[in-house]
Amino acid sequence: MASLTPWISIPQDSDFSIYNLPFGIFSRQYEPPRAAIAIGDKLIDLFPLAKQGFFDELVPTRTVFAEPTLNSFIALGKKITNGVRLLVQTWLCEEGSPLHQNQDLIYPQADVKMHLPVKIGDYTDFYSSIEHATNVGKMFRDPENALLPNWKHIPVGYHGRASSIIPSGQPILRPKGQVVAKDAKDPSYQPSGRLDFELEMAFIIGKNTELGDSISTAEAEDYIFGMVLFNDWSARDIQKWEYVPLGPFLGKSFASSVSPWVVPLEALDPFRVPGPEQNPPVLPYLNYMGNKNYDIALEVGIQPRGATETIVSRSNFQYMYWNMAQQLAHHTINGCNVNVGDMMASGTISGKSEDSYGSMLELAWAGSKPLKMSDGSERVFINDYDTVIMRGHAEKDGVRVGFGEVRAQVLPGK
Ligand code: CA
Repeated sequence: MASLTPWISIPQDSDFSIYNLPFGIFSRQYEPPRAAIAIGDKLIDLFPLAKQGFFDELVPTRTVFAEPTLNSFIALGKKITNGVRLLVQTWLCEEGSPLHQNQDLIYPQADVKMHLPVKIGDYTDFYSSIEHATNVGKMFRDPENALLPNWKHIPVGYHGRASSIIPSGQPILRPKGQVVAKDAKDPSYQPSGRLDFELEMAFIIGKNTELGDSISTAEAEDYIFGMVLFNDWSARDIQKWEYVPLGPFLGKSFASSVSPWVVPLEALDPFRVPGPEQNPPVLPYLNYMGNKNYDIALEVGIQPRGATETIVSRSNFQYMYWNMAQQLAHHTINGCNVNVGDMMASGTISGKSEDSYGSMLELAWAGSKPLKMSDGSERVFINDYDTVIMRGHAEKDGVRVGFGEVRAQVLPGK
């Protein structure tokens, strides 16, 4: 990889290196939300640069950067969005560039508020980690036949709820619902006692399709703008009672948290790796060429109130059995259309080892193996006032491209 030398100082080990340059939506006090690019621990305010005409050769409308979501910008297409990214990269390495002369438009990230990066029309959650599906199958169903017969033929998924997807930093409220207590036959209505996280990543659709269209695995990455970290909060006791026969409902729809910076697929290109062997062979429309998995190291921390954080899991996005291209090909094989801003989450990303599982359900094995926190307390699920933090980054040959973090504190429900 070529070595770039920016004039701006970037903290060592920053996720937001000169090779990353993700897009997000921020606001400052009394100002409306608008688009930015992250660099190091700072961000670049794009609209004032556009207003001065610096993007005019690339971007047809200056006001696209003044909108409160990235949808219109993303809809301009990868040629333009990546063009903006590469132009900013050049500016960051050139003294006298428009950005170098407008350094007052670079603000500390600590001084701004981050928002949801896109308006999410539809949200789909897959179930694509074989380790996770096997673990859950063992606990919820049958230890001998943990995987259902369709699992290795279909990237299993369900349509989730977009309205309750919230940005990192916003607390979540412990959900209430129908729960069947241990040894009880009938359900009762109560706060969930088994609140859990799910370590996931999500991709954001960058191009619309028409009803009836299908996207091939070869075309799929043209339709993916970028990725975020995704915490699919789950109430296991509500889920266990409600999920048969139609799948997740209120045990999932109360909240999902996403990281604020969307890392474009172009920035992740150097970190492609082969996926796992798929056996039995998949149907032809799910076949793919090339490396479609990505080596992205992931971790989850739990921070009890007043205590330091304890890392409870280290996983990797490359473990996914089904890759994003296969997920999108499958999603559209029936002619279902997709729209810019749609979010598709991977499903819980568990590795093979016990310390790489992507949920408390698996890490503490349905409550039977408590995890120790730094303050000496134990967890089998998530307690009130705990903060759950997820991080992810790729690194190769000294080049680091990361996602920052997604965090949320759990508060007692209303
Ligand atoms: Ca999930």
